[in-house]
Amino acid sequence: MTKTLRIINPANGSVVAEVSADDAASVAAKAARARAAQPGWAGRPLAERKAVVSRFREKVVAELETLAKTLTSEVGKPIAQSRNELNGFLGRIDFFLAKVEASTANEEVFADAAITERIGHDPLGVVANISAWNYPYFVGGNVFVPALLTGNAVLYKPSEFATLTGLHITRLLHAAGVPDDVFIAIVGDGEAGAALVEQPVDGVFFTGSAATGAKIAAAVGPRMIRLQLELGGKDPTYVAEDADPKAAAESLADGAMYNTGQSCCSVERIYVHERIHDAFVDAFLLTVAGFKIGDPAEDGTYIGAITRAPQLDVLEAQVADAVAKGGRLRTGGKRIDRPGNWFEPTVVTDANHDMLLMREESFGPIIGIQKVKGDDDAVALMNDTRYGLTAGVFTCDEARAGRLLARVNAGSVYWNCCDRVSPRLPWSGRGDSGVGVTLSTYGFQTFTRPKAWHLRKP
Ligand code: NAD
Repeated sequence: MTKTLRIINPANGSVVAEVSADDAASVAAKAARARAAQPGWAGRPLAERKAVVSRFREKVVAELETLAKTLTSEVGKPIAQSRNELNGFLGRIDFFLAKVEASTANEEVFADAAITERIGHDPLGVVANISAWNYPYFVGGNVFVPALLTGNAVLYKPSEFATLTGLHITRLLHAAGVPDDVFIAIVGDGEAGAALVEQPVDGVFFTGSAATGAKIAAAVGPRMIRLQLELGGKDPTYVAEDADPKAAAESLADGAMYNTGQSCCSVERIYVHERIHDAFVDAFLLTVAGFKIGDPAEDGTYIGAITRAPQLDVLEAQVADAVAKGGRLRTGGKRIDRPGNWFEPTVVTDANHDMLLMREESFGPIIGIQKVKGDDDAVALMNDTRYGLTAGVFTCDEARAGRLLARVNAGSVYWNCCDRVSPRLPWSGRGDSGVGVTLSTYGFQTFTRPKAWHLRKP
């Protein structure tokens, strides 16, 4: 450990903590420890591993308020939203605990007098879990909870912007009974992540930007190990002419700006039928005007800080580009003058697909709204993207929604809702939104490999 990582509160610029970071040598030593410890963990009965994860859940409940405050202090997430994430995380743990046994049990698929055929599920072994900062409990937990339950050792690298949260997770897992060498935190920035990817692991599970995902894919490619990439999105929604403009606007303003717009499944672009466009925009602006911007540590705050300072340049550039290409800036559009990283909730109408705002992930509280003539126009625009994470439609007509959403190329689709993830449903991206699946019962197969047993009696 030679480097020091400084944790800065993005809401005011103050130093929250300084922690020692890993270097390549310490990452390699940790990987070797995990390799040695994994068989013992996999050899324990599933009931024991479940009991450990249940105890971890109890510890999260007991410390929920402290954990929420830490998350808010290093990410700038409004405190109510930090609590929401932790409570949602508990629900995901409950799902995994309820489903692991049935999802990973041996399955006898054939038997006659001479031979039995069985499908078994072996753990992968040692897995690297490289996490993003925006929902560290969700995106980390989607990997480490099922990975541990299925008998893997986990080398967990929290984002450098959510390190203290990552260290809390590590402490609580160890206190719950996960052996120290079965779950090991790798502390640091991209350099530590790159060193982790170089280790002889059995799988790399990454959540983050498409740009970093491409680097990891290139590094892992020739090694024939499991690779999962959960990447960004440019998630569209179409509001049809039969939708209630006010209800749609309230839902979509929340979907665009919750977590200060820093969600992989934030609503990133909106297409509105020309017949209700103006009513929708009026209701959208009214909703946004009601969002309370302020200290994320205070109850009632809805818009918090931008976690990474460089993102402010991205947001500014997208707004400038949109305005230069004919967009109408209806509210916001610039940084907020206070210590830390802040950007006004921003709405641009008259948007079009020449604009970066409608093509590149914004990852902030800004949104482009484009008028469309009808369903075909909307579907063509929704699919005009390199991403494919989520997409939605607002309409009163369920059959019409079904027809439209069937034509949309995205891993998750929403009718009259948005910005929603369920532990019961598979979470996956298409195109530059990634490869692989987490959550749902498929989310156990992600961390196991099938073994085909051919058993002939003597
Ligand atoms: P990021 O790509 O900057 O970093 C993600 C992680 O990768 C961090 O832990 C970082 O230290 C590490 N890293 C950086 N360079 C690396 C390298 N060369 N090798 C190995 N690791 C490296 O992303 P971020 O800013 O933390 O997260 C924001 C992005 O994540 C957005 O694009 C968002 O849409 C996406 N995201 C996707 C999902 C999903 O489920 N699809 C969920 C949350 C966030």
